[in-house]
Amino acid sequence: MRLVFIGPPGAGKGTQCKRLVELLNIPHLSTGEMLRAVKKQETALSRWVASYIDAGRLAPDHVVMRIVAQKLQSEECVNGALFDGFPRTLIQAQLLDDYLADQGLKLDMALELKVEEEELIQRLLKRAQIDGRVDDNYDTIRERLHVFHTQTAPLTEYYAKQGKLEVVNGMQSADQVFEDIKACVERHR
Ligand code: ADP
Repeated sequence: MRLVFIGPPGAGKGTQCKRLVELLNIPHLSTGEMLRAVKKQETALSRWVASYIDAGRLAPDHVVMRIVAQKLQSEECVNGALFDGFPRTLIQAQLLDDYLADQGLKLDMALELKVEEEELIQRLLKRAQIDGRVDDNYDTIRERLHVFHTQTAPLTEYYAKQGKLEVVNGMQSADQVFEDIKACVERHR
């Protein structure tokens, strides 16, 4: 199964993705994690990527698609993958569809996790104290939420038109959210 997980920063995607990849036995492809790994290297590319991430902006579409494509070529992805934080723009969604179509593959489902804005800000500020992520400060959080609303939220319509969208309420306990997600997965298996 190949599925895309859409949700604003702080929605709880990380927690749910961990459970979901165990359930489905597929690899978890988080572009946030991949880009943070690139950022750690001391190269011109890493400094360039850092300039986007640290400002709360999106890395360029073609760079992200190249990193994802590289992962998709590995053996572990033959039976599917969970895309977390990707695609984040309509262009990325089209690039992914084209890439998969070239291989005779397709996405099965897009899952949207919904959480109210105020709650997101509170959760992210709390995470900032625990994890110390450079991009978890108030200004960058606001920027990332803005980027989500303008660039990523339109994806839900894109996938709804393909009949692939499922929406889950993220303002519930993590266990209940996961129950709802499992029900969605069953509908698209
Ligand atoms: P969050 O969703 O909590 O903001 P992520 O770990 O998914 O965190 O992403 C962190 C940052 O990495 C984003 O703010 C962005 O700069 C960059 N990033 C992650 N995924 C993408 C993507 N698909 N396209 C462009 N930039 C991305």
